[in-house]
Amino acid sequence: MNLLLKGGHVLDPANGIDGLADVKLSGGRIEAVGPDLPLADGETSLDVAGYFVVPGIIDMHAHVFSTHRRSTLSLDPHVNTFSSGVTTIVDAGTSGWRDFADFRTEVIDRARIRVLAYVNIVGSGMGGEWEHDVREMRPALAAAMAEEHRDVVVGIKTAHYWAKRPFDAEHPPWAAVDGAVEAGERTGLPVMVDFYPWLPERSYPDLILDKLRPGDIHTHVFAQQFPVLDERGRVYDHLFRARERGVIFDLGHGAASFWFRNAAPAIEQGFVPDSISTDLHTGNLNGPVIDMATTMSKVLAMGVPLMEVIARSTVAPAREIGHSELGTLGPGAEADVAVLALDKGEFGFVDCGQTRLESNQRLRCVLTLRAGEVVYNPLGFGLPFWRQVVS
Ligand SMILES: [Zn+2]
Repeated sequence: MNLLLKGGHVLDPANGIDGLADVKLSGGRIEAVGPDLPLADGETSLDVAGYFVVPGIIDMHAHVFSTHRRSTLSLDPHVNTFSSGVTTIVDAGTSGWRDFADFRTEVIDRARIRVLAYVNIVGSGMGGEWEHDVREMRPALAAAMAEEHRDVVVGIKTAHYWAKRPFDAEHPPWAAVDGAVEAGERTGLPVMVDFYPWLPERSYPDLILDKLRPGDIHTHVFAQQFPVLDERGRVYDHLFRARERGVIFDLGHGAASFWFRNAAPAIEQGFVPDSISTDLHTGNLNGPVIDMATTMSKVLAMGVPLMEVIARSTVAPAREIGHSELGTLGPGAEADVAVLALDKGEFGFVDCGQTRLESNQRLRCVLTLRAGEVVYNPLGFGLPFWRQVVS
């Protein structure tokens, strides 16, 4: 179906567009963005005045290996995604070099939403004791799997390697991070790191100032356990220095990894996460995460301008995962589009530390298009009134 989205407020950070404009979609791609575009033959016009029209949202940290035999962490990739404007979801290492091929055939290749993924440095991915077994961390095998599926793999993931204290020759403190970075070196891909910092053998400044390379990503940046603020409440210098080096900081909300008491003061002092992501899984779907629109609303509620919130949910994650063809409404791009309402009223949001944040606005998705097809349309844009079809 060829569509003309008429009269919306387009926010397209990739192309610097912030204003009233129409968006023309044909053959599953963006044809044009501009004011007062004429309706062509065979085209359907949808009136989206009063709404924001943005590129399809990219959630670059979630868990969607729903057929995983060893872990109940994952959701079906269509759960709380299209309904939140998300058209690309990135699985953050639920599968590893041993089971990635199953993930691909069982989930990625069958999904209507675009699914991309990080390959875990651990062979069987996430969800159990094996994540602490150094013998499972195999850079060459992870790199080979990533190369074989290079069209859908965006990086190497490491997580959850901290239970095996005390560290010793068999459990070196940096085994997981070093293995992931080595796989990253072999493939030219970035690594995404989930880390636990309070171990003297491996500090957070060492991770972000020494171990991670430019373009590598620390997710869960505002988890309770990270040294984000010093005793006077100031953002630690190591965060700014790491950012200057090119290390990326991703929000990665999760069930325990997003605390307003770290995030709000940091954002107030100018340390805004580079990308916004949910870490959506079975353990946080019904709170505190819910979905991307809720997570984006929380960042908005902490004072980040709407255009910046959209940028950190579209063009920024696209760049971080090496897919600059996504997260844009540029002509020729696949027509992944979200139409969002910015509701005004009294709203509350919840973090992982059982605290509340209030706001007078909230983002709500009202229409989602994936490759030009309507995949979420709760208000019935373009549909006839029921009386008109009663014979
Ligand atoms: Zn995760």
